[in-house]
Amino acid sequence: MFQPVVLASHCKIRNFIYQRPMQKHILILGGSSEGFTIASMLHDHPAYKVMSSLAGRTSVPKKPKGPYRIGGFGGSEGLEQYIKTHQIDAIIDATHPFAQKISSNANIAAAKANCPILHLWRKEWQKTNDDHWIDVPTMQAAAQHLNQTHSPVFLTIGRLELAAFLSCTEITLYSRAIEPATKAEQKTKLSASDKEQAWPDNFHFIYAKGPFTYEKELALIKQHNIKAIVTKNSGGPGAYAKLEVARTLKLPVIMISRPEKPKGQIATNPQDALKWLENLS
Ligand code: NAP
Repeated sequence: MFQPVVLASHCKIRNFIYQRPMQKHILILGGSSEGFTIASMLHDHPAYKVMSSLAGRTSVPKKPKGPYRIGGFGGSEGLEQYIKTHQIDAIIDATHPFAQKISSNANIAAAKANCPILHLWRKEWQKTNDDHWIDVPTMQAAAQHLNQTHSPVFLTIGRLELAAFLSCTEITLYSRAIEPATKAEQKTKLSASDKEQAWPDNFHFIYAKGPFTYEKELALIKQHNIKAIVTKNSGGPGAYAKLEVARTLKLPVIMISRPEKPKGQIATNPQDALKWLENLS
């Protein structure tokens, strides 16, 4: 792995120093648990020098292993510039499957900068015969589907698209997110309780970060006498327990379907993403 370099070939005793082989510069677009996993797998790997990138949506983000940066690039042009300036050899797009803009920007930027890109696209959750899922295409469709028989509803959709449920004035809503949202999701200096006051009285807030266990989800859903759950089909194990609880309690789940897969090369897990990297010339 480490190549000996001859310092003085004319000497009777040759001196060797050991030098790292050329490292490939990898940009990981993070935001999913797989992004953290692949950053840990590549950390200290002799063949790669890695930079993780986070959007900066939460005020105290989980930190990936190794170097990272936070904040947007400024569209596909900004990302293209970043790839060129930092001589990125390959991109792993490990953003959340519902984060469509960044994946599309990354494809455009990678094509223009002639940089290989792989999308880590985890498998979606599959309905079983014991599930009562109502598949809807958008957040607005989920809100339109709700009626009083579903009240109180458990919203596990994050905080950015909560405004879609402002039309559900007759329904009690429990929204779980990592941190508070304002109606327009503006950056303000309001405290959590001030932000909550900006929402109608039928909105209630629970702040928590996954992964969530079956026992805790069951306790929470029973505590609030939840009658239906709204969620995105994110896939992965960290947020799956609520679906098992819904199955046990025979609760309907309004399931927002996956958006289209990003175009280009796809891996469904970090191990396959690593193989893809290893096979790059
Ligand atoms: P998005 O709509 O696809 O992206 C919006 C903008 O955010 C992008 O154009 C880019 O800004 C910036 N951005 C997104 N991901 C970035 C990254 N990893 N590094 C640097 N900039 C990034 O994304 P979103 O749906 O708002 O999600 C934002 C982040 O939260 C993503 O990283 C995603 O993985 C994570 N997340 C999203 C969801 C979800 O349901 N959408 C759930 C869990 C986690 P510029 O154009 O300025 O470059």
